Amino acid sequence: MPAEPFEARYRARSLWLDGLPGSLTPRRSLEASADCDVAIVGAGFTGLWSAYYLKQHQPDLRVTLVESEVAGYGPSGRNGGWVSSGLSGSAKLYRRSHGQDAVVRAQRETQTTVDEIGRVVEQEDIECGYLKAGWLMAATSPPQEQRLADSERSARALGATAQDWQTLTPEQVDAYARVEGRIAAAYSPHGARIDPARLVRGLAEACERLGVVIHERTPALELASGRVRCPGGELRATTVLRATESYTTQLPGQSLRYLPLYSLMIATEPLPPEVWDELGWRDGLLIGDRHHLFFYAQRTADGRIAIGGRGAPYQLRHPISVQNERSDSVRARLERVLRRHFPAAADAAITHHWGGPLAVPRDWSMAVHFNPGTGLGYAGGYSGHGVVAANIGGRTLADLVLGRDSDLTTLPWVGHHSRRWEPEPLRFLASRAIVRVLESADVHEDTHGTRACRTALLSPVMPPH
Ligand SMILES: Cc1cc2nc3c(=O)[nH]c(=O)nc-3n(C[C@H](O)[C@H](O)[C@H](O)COP(=O)(O)OP(=O)(O)OC[C@H]3O[C@@H](n4cnc5c(N)ncnc54)[C@H](O)[C@@H]3O)c2cc1C
Repeated sequence: MPAEPFEARYRARSLWLDGLPGSLTPRRSLEASADCDVAIVGAGFTGLWSAYYLKQHQPDLRVTLVESEVAGYGPSGRNGGWVSSGLSGSAKLYRRSHGQDAVVRAQRETQTTVDEIGRVVEQEDIECGYLKAGWLMAATSPPQEQRLADSERSARALGATAQDWQTLTPEQVDAYARVEGRIAAAYSPHGARIDPARLVRGLAEACERLGVVIHERTPALELASGRVRCPGGELRATTVLRATESYTTQLPGQSLRYLPLYSLMIATEPLPPEVWDELGWRDGLLIGDRHHLFFYAQRTADGRIAIGGRGAPYQLRHPISVQNERSDSVRARLERVLRRHFPAAADAAITHHWGGPLAVPRDWSMAVHFNPGTGLGYAGGYSGHGVVAANIGGRTLADLVLGRDSDLTTLPWVGHHSRRWEPEPLRFLASRAIVRVLESADVHEDTHGTRACRTALLSPVMPPH
C-alpha cells in the first residue's frame, strides 16, 4: 500500500501527531522469523522506555520492538502532555501489600521522574517542548475545595513538603493563571509540559541510535515464553515484554484484564499574545480541576490551549475503535469548560478533537511484572496517568530483566496483582454507571455547592482511598 493513506490516518489521531514534522511512513515490518534477546510488544512510552534503559545498561543486548501501527500511535502520541507527579494507583492498596515506606518512596519516584524525563529529553536532543513549570489544580466549588484538602492530607502522609504541595488563595492563584471561578487551588512544582508525539517519536529515534530494531505495522498475534508470533514470522527471544496498555484487551484471553475507557481532548487555534496576557497563564503550567470528571489542560508550545477530560461512554461491541475517539457530548462539555474558566479564549476556533483508550485495572492500580522463569514481563494499567508511570515502568522492567539490584524493583507496584473485571455485560454496566454517576454528581455540586453523596454508590468499582 502507498505511504499516503497511513500518513493521513496517523495524523488524524491527535493534534500532536498532526503537527509532527517529517514523515510518518511506517518502518519496515517483520517479514521473516528472527532472533533477539529481548522482544518488546508495543512502541508507546512503556515499550520504548524499556528498550531505552535496557540498551543504556547493556549496549550489546539485542532488543527488538514490534508495533502494530507506528511508534506513538496509541495514547502515548495523543495524551494531554502532563508529565506530572502522583501515584497511578491506590496508596491504600499499595500500603497494605508493601508498607508505608515503599509508598513514600513510590510517591517520591514519581516526582524525580519528571526530572528524569527532562534529562533524557536534553541528552537525546528531543524537541518536544518540555517545560517544567509545575501543575495547578483549581477548585471551583466547596466540595472540590474539600477534595483538594483531602488530597493535600494524603500527599503530606506520603511525605510531601510545603514545597511539594502549596495551597493557594484565589489571589495567589492569579499569579499563575486567571482561572475564572476558582475559589482555591493547589500548586506543585513537579510537573512539566510536553508535546507527547514529539517525545515518543524522538524516543524511538534515540532507541534506534542505541541499536534497537523497531518493526512497525507488525501486530503481535500471540505472546508466549520465548516467542512472539507475528503475521510475517516469529520473533524468538529469551525475554518477552508486553507494553500494550489498553490494547492488551484485544490479545487472546486478556479481554477482562482492563476496562478500556476513553479520554478525549480538544485544542484551540494558536492564541494571540494579548489573549495570553489576559489569561495570565504562565508558559508551561499545567492546569486541571477537581470535578469528578476533571479537566486537564496545557498551554502548548505553539500557543494553543489543549484541554481534555473523560466521560465518553464505553461501547460494549467495540470497546476500542476509532469511532470512540470523538464524542459530541464530551466535546461540548470541554468547550463549556474552556469558555467558563478561560473566557479570554472563548472565541477561539477549535481546530482539533481526538481521544484514546486508557487501561483501567479493576483496582485502578498499575503493576510491573517480570517472571525470570518464563522470561515474560509487562508494565501497565496506568488508568490514564501513564506519562511518568511508563518511564518508571520501563526503567523497572529493564532492572528486573537484567537482574539489577535497584530501589525501583521494590516499589509497591512490582508484582502487584489486580483481579479481572467482571464479564460482560457487568463490566459495561459498571463503566456506564461510573460515567453517569460522576457526571450527575458534578452537575449537583456545580448547582448546589454541596457534596454529592451518590459517588459512594461507586465504591465497589473504584479504588479505596
Ligand atoms: C486523551 C488522553 C490524554 C491523556 N493524558 C495524559 C496526561 O496528560 N498525562 C499522563 O500521565 N497520562 C495521560 N494519558 C495516559 C497516557 O497517555 C498513557 O497512560 C500512556 O501513554 C501509556 O503508554 P503505553 O506505552 O503503556 O501505552 P500506549 O501508548 O497505548 O502504547 C501501546 C502501543 O502498543 C501498540 N500495540 C497494541 N497492541 C499491539 C500488538 N498486539 N502488537 C504490536 N503492537 C501493539 C499500540 O499500537 C500502541 O502504539 C492520556 C491518555 C489519553 C488517551
